[in-house]
Amino acid sequence: MVDLSVTAPQAAARLDAALRTMETIAPARYREIAEPAVRAERLAAELDRPDLVIRARLAQADALAVDGDMAAAGRIAHEALAWSTEHGGAYLVARSHRQLALFFYHVGDAGEALGNAVQCVAHTGEDAPPQVRARHLSMLAVMLDVNGSQAEARRRFTEALDVAGTLDDPQLSLQILNNLAYTEYSYGHLGRAQELVERMRAYGIRLAATELDTIARVELSRGRYAEAEATLRPVLEGARDDLLDEGKALAECLLTAAEAQRLRGAVAAAQATLDRAARFCDERQLAAARARVREEQARLYAATDRYREAYEEYQRFHSETQALQSAEREARARALQVVFEIEEARRESVRFRELALRDALTGLHNRRFVDDRLGEVLVRAAADRLPVSAALVDLDHFKRINDTLAHAAGDAVLQEVARLLTAAAAEDDVVARLGGEEFVLVLPGIDTDEAVRRCERLRRSIAQHAWRPITGDLPVTASIGVTTVADGGSTPSALLAAADRNLYAAKRSGRNRVVADPA
Ligand code: GH3
Ligand code: MG
Ligand code: MG
Repeated sequence: MVDLSVTAPQAAARLDAALRTMETIAPARYREIAEPAVRAERLAAELDRPDLVIRARLAQADALAVDGDMAAAGRIAHEALAWSTEHGGAYLVARSHRQLALFFYHVGDAGEALGNAVQCVAHTGEDAPPQVRARHLSMLAVMLDVNGSQAEARRRFTEALDVAGTLDDPQLSLQILNNLAYTEYSYGHLGRAQELVERMRAYGIRLAATELDTIARVELSRGRYAEAEATLRPVLEGARDDLLDEGKALAECLLTAAEAQRLRGAVAAAQATLDRAARFCDERQLAAARARVREEQARLYAATDRYREAYEEYQRFHSETQALQSAEREARARALQVVFEIEEARRESVRFRELALRDALTGLHNRRFVDDRLGEVLVRAAADRLPVSAALVDLDHFKRINDTLAHAAGDAVLQEVARLLTAAAAEDDVVARLGGEEFVLVLPGIDTDEAVRRCERLRRSIAQHAWRPITGDLPVTASIGVTTVADGGSTPSALLAAADRNLYAAKRSGRNRVVADPA
């Protein structure tokens, strides 16, 4: 329920702040926001704020993604982008692209991930809060990295670090430094990685398990086995209860530690660490890490000359990895299928909506479209202080064509007139068939003189058209009633009524003519 002690704007401001917290929380804590994000969505709906609903749903997507429900996260991201492209501001568009980038990253489509990351940053203005900007830049850097654009990745990481440096948020700076250090490490730039690791340590605050693991990896690859082990000690000793939530990170740390112990010749310690890693992975069902425990176990057997066991363990590692890869491929395919279907459904609904606003015989817009659009045209004209003209076009003695020839001939005439009308219209004009043999032309920004000139040209183009193939000796002409409002100051029905009065005058005074407002 909404807290009745606060007014709606206050509640909305509070919700906005809560959502910003969820949007800038460290990825290791995404699970914590699952429940608050659902509550936030309910509150946003009660406040009738669809933009906040979308933000709450995107926060849920973060939580769903860490729980492995990529399809659900992808669906939310897609719907959020569709909604915010139509109604939302740049921030929501950026936020939706961020979520899509993460989705595609997780389902293994690095190219799409990068495309969305670029869009995310493109829509993140200088006015976006720095904690958001730094995160978006850092995410782009990661995506550039996985696409092999190492130099570009480094540039964005550095930019992100600069932005983060303006904030009192060492966790954020550490997170970015950690990503950058890991990138340098994985490219084998150990000197650079080492410098970054030292910068991480220099913060003098407790590091997260992922960060400690990066540091240990760098030390390991520089042959500093004992140091690597020491770095991981706070995690291994389990003194850090807060770290255990990080699940995968602890498994990674145990693997790195076991490797360090093996390399420094502490076989028994390495075996104990690996046993612990295996138990932990089994408990938490961390299949990928479990397979890597087997790989490290095989190496440990080999290091102690137990080649037969090493070979068997390696075989198990190999078959588990393959099974995992095919399960992963299937999961990716399913997630992509879900997103594809959403895309299709959205396109279809746009198409149907569009069809509902068209006339089947001529393909012109219909009366419903005019009802929707004419109001908008008048509002815009009023704001811009520009005139609007509207012309009603009614065919003369059309009944005669139907009666003398056939209904099909009448239809053909209507289709041909629709083409002449379309040809006479400019890009901003609205051309529609209101029904029967009556059409309308809405001319935004056009004053009386110009409107009369254009209607006169149209009248002539109809009268002089080569109708003989369709109507034989019967002529086809139209009467046109045109009206103008000086600066949009009218309503759709008043405008059309004035045009209709002029049309009636045109009919009465002999047809095949244009009648405008009396001067
Ligand atoms: P006026 O010059 O006074 O406008 O005479 P009119 O005969 O054009 O006007 P009236 O309203 O008497 O007749 C319109 C005719 O348009 C009647 C109807 O048969 C015909 N009509 C309406 N819709 C269609 C259509 O979709 N196809 C065809 N072929 N005829 C249509
Ligand atoms: Mg008619
Ligand atoms: Mg008519």
